[in-house]
Parts: sequence; structure tokens; C-alpha cells
Amino acid sequence: MEEARRFFDDTGECVFCRMIHDEMNIGERVVAANEHFVAFVLYAASSPFHAWILPRRHFSSFRVISDEEISSLAAIVRDVLRRIFYGLNDPAYNLVVRTSPVKELGSVYFHAYMAVIPRLSRHAGFELGSGVSINPTIPEACAAFLRDVIIP
Ligand SMILES: [Zn+2]
Repeated sequence: MEEARRFFDDTGECVFCRMIHDEMNIGERVVAANEHFVAFVLYAASSPFHAWILPRRHFSSFRVISDEEISSLAAIVRDVLRRIFYGLNDPAYNLVVRTSPVKELGSVYFHAYMAVIPRLSRHAGFELGSGVSINPTIPEACAAFLRDVIIP
């Protein structure tokens, strides 16, 4: 949230809205998109296939999501998880909900999102010793792989 605030102070923009705009324009890391949400593998993903799902409309808390957006969110979460299930052979994963604290409900700089983090790799000596993650995959290749998964 500190970095999001700093970006907003420097540019007058929500960094997450900027990411959505840039990712949709580039398209290489996008996994799925629908009317209200976009899912993409992060440019600097800390682990293989680490993806975020963000609402196209700026809001900082899922408390203000509309009924229509909830349906859209459910559809894209299901779509991304099915791609991971069938494409990566049903790995363990974490689904993380990032939403602003109650005192920041109307935040202009924080943007609610979900992170999908398949657990495909383990931290070894380097990661444990340095606190730095090594991701041996290329985010654009991960996104292309997930886009190409055939869901039965
Ligand atoms: Zn935003």
C-alpha cells in the first residue's frame, strides 16, 4: 500500500489501473478477461504462474462490488483455476484476497484484487538465505500456456 500511495503521489494515477491498462494493451501476460475483470501473470512474478485478477473498475475494497461484478469475478476465478487444474495437473495453490482496510474504503491509490499462486516450486537454500525468490519461468510463456489450455 505504501508503494501504491507513492505511485499515486508521483503520477496522480492508481498503479493497479495503470497495470490493467498496460497489460491489456500488451496482451502477452493476459490469461483471461471478461466484462468486469482481467487476469494476468505478473511481469515480475515471484513464482511460476503467479497471477492477479483485478476489477476493471477502480475500487479499493470488495465491500463495494456490485452483484453483476460478483458474477463476473466468479466466472474469471473459475476460468483461471480450471486452466491451472487442467494445464498444471491439479497443483496446490493459494487464492489471496487483497482488499483495503476499512479505514481506506474510498482509497484512490489502492485497488482490490485477488492473487492466484500455484505451488509448483519450493524455496531452497538461496531463497531461504537471501529472502529473494527465484522464478525459473518466463511470465509471458506461463500466460500463453494457460491461455492455450483446453478445458473439457
Ligand atoms: Zn485502480
